Amino acid sequence: MSNDFLASTMGDVDLSIRSILEHGSSVFGDSKVITFHGDSTTTASFAEVGARAHRLAHALRSLGIGHGDRVGTLMFNIQTHEEAYFAVPSMGAVLHTLNFRLHPEQLAWIINHADDQVIICEGFLLPALLAIRPLIPGVRHIIVVGAPPAGTDVPADVIDYEQLLASQPAGSYPWPDVPERAAAAMCYTSGTTGDPKGVVYSHRSAFLHALGFVGGASLTSHDRVLTIVPMFHVNAWGMPYAGFMAGSDLLMPGRFLQAEPLSRFMAEHPPTFSAGVPTVWNDLLRFAETNPIDFSTLRNVIVGGSAVPSSLIEGFRTRHGVQITQAWGMTETSPIGALAYPPRGVAPDEELPYRVRTGRPVAGITIRIVDDNGTPLPHDGVAVGELEAIGPWVTASYFNVDAADKFHVDNGKTWLRTGDVGSIDPLGYVQITDRAKDVIKSGGEWVSSVDLENSLMGHPAVLEAAVIGVPDDRFDERPLACVVMRNGQTPDFFDMARYLETKVAKWWVPERWTTIDEVPKTSTLKFDKKVLRARYGAGELDVTTIAKATR
Ligand code: AMP
Repeated sequence: MSNDFLASTMGDVDLSIRSILEHGSSVFGDSKVITFHGDSTTTASFAEVGARAHRLAHALRSLGIGHGDRVGTLMFNIQTHEEAYFAVPSMGAVLHTLNFRLHPEQLAWIINHADDQVIICEGFLLPALLAIRPLIPGVRHIIVVGAPPAGTDVPADVIDYEQLLASQPAGSYPWPDVPERAAAAMCYTSGTTGDPKGVVYSHRSAFLHALGFVGGASLTSHDRVLTIVPMFHVNAWGMPYAGFMAGSDLLMPGRFLQAEPLSRFMAEHPPTFSAGVPTVWNDLLRFAETNPIDFSTLRNVIVGGSAVPSSLIEGFRTRHGVQITQAWGMTETSPIGALAYPPRGVAPDEELPYRVRTGRPVAGITIRIVDDNGTPLPHDGVAVGELEAIGPWVTASYFNVDAADKFHVDNGKTWLRTGDVGSIDPLGYVQITDRAKDVIKSGGEWVSSVDLENSLMGHPAVLEAAVIGVPDDRFDERPLACVVMRNGQTPDFFDMARYLETKVAKWWVPERWTTIDEVPKTSTLKFDKKVLRARYGAGELDVTTIAKATR
């Protein structure tokens, strides 16, 4: 600290994951982690989870895991994952959550790049991990949780999680004092372009982010939090730690994220709060059209990870009385960066224009927009530029790779270049109009594919829609609408175009239309528009062009 500042009187206590564990398992020792297995559930108190975290740390130590070593996890949202979330960082090692939906070679690449020493793997994913084992020679031990599928040829050196824990001393693990800026966990970006890049979270960043989540979601020990975001994707948005901070029960749906099993789990253990990507909530909303689901206990659902269609927000509000709050974030931002709560003084039935926006930055995070030269643009709701973010839980580099072009050093501060394009209004609401790589420029002007998609998904005959830019002789680029029809509906492109004209600028409305069976999705269930662009390039899409005059 420079000498001219007055020193505070505060104790110099590092923020740590261990303190979250100790807080949750003592102050809220009777709060619960409830795991769904498809047709049954298991329950453990926070106190029990805490005790098992100690045993897991003993076990990992006995396998040679020390400070800074990476421990991979290949699991959905289950109690064991929660145990690893606490044990690994608290013992000074680094939790590396792995996304099993990635291509096997990419998964192996990530495991090798991170130098994972041990992988804790859910039984049903073991065959997939064993299949890439020859590609990951650095992994010294595999620990399996639960039974692998019948017929799996399990090598003798694969260790059973429960047996391993049972063989450990029951006493406390001597947690080290980990400096708050040391690595606690890591997660690789989905890597839609180039190799995936590792983001390394610190104890400090994870603690502050979780605290932000507790505040942003107003969590208390009266809450039951349904953790739909997978724990392999950006720390399940902080819920595993936020739950222990606030004492909220954690409802873990395992791999049963489809609407039918999820609705059964919700009926048995009604949540008060949840969070997840729009795809899962869209599925639930649709499923509820023909199968009664009681959503009445849900006081708030945070939805983000991709733009949230207004039809989803309105559908939940009008049909089920459920409030959906949009959130924005990235792997690089831990992820929560912005939340779209309406401003004060807005009546409940006038909130939609705010809830459909991307959100206002949460305290601690600064978001700005810059032009192509990196010059900041005004927050007037009109100027459009690339979003840059900075804050104590926003990464300022990637793990063991030089990616200087992803950051903008300005006046000694390192801003993350998000690759998202949008505007910011005077109240601080960010509105993302596109990913930089998905931007459509028609006659030099931006057309927002996100707006077109969201509007189209409000059309009664449309289930899903993705819009991509395709070459055009006159305007360089024009939007192509790729539409998934609801069951049994015949596409009427004229009708959809007319509908769009009432929602967006007329010149945005696509002339080119096609129907597809489903929108391709990335490993984290976001629209994968590069697959659609490739299909278009390969002439695989059956495109109909409708003339403006005929509409
Ligand atoms: P990931 O790192 O896989 O979580 O992806 C982060 C990206 O998801 C962001 O850079 C955005 O492009 C997108 N995203 C997240 N939340 C939103 C949102 N509310 N609206 C639009 N895009 C979003």
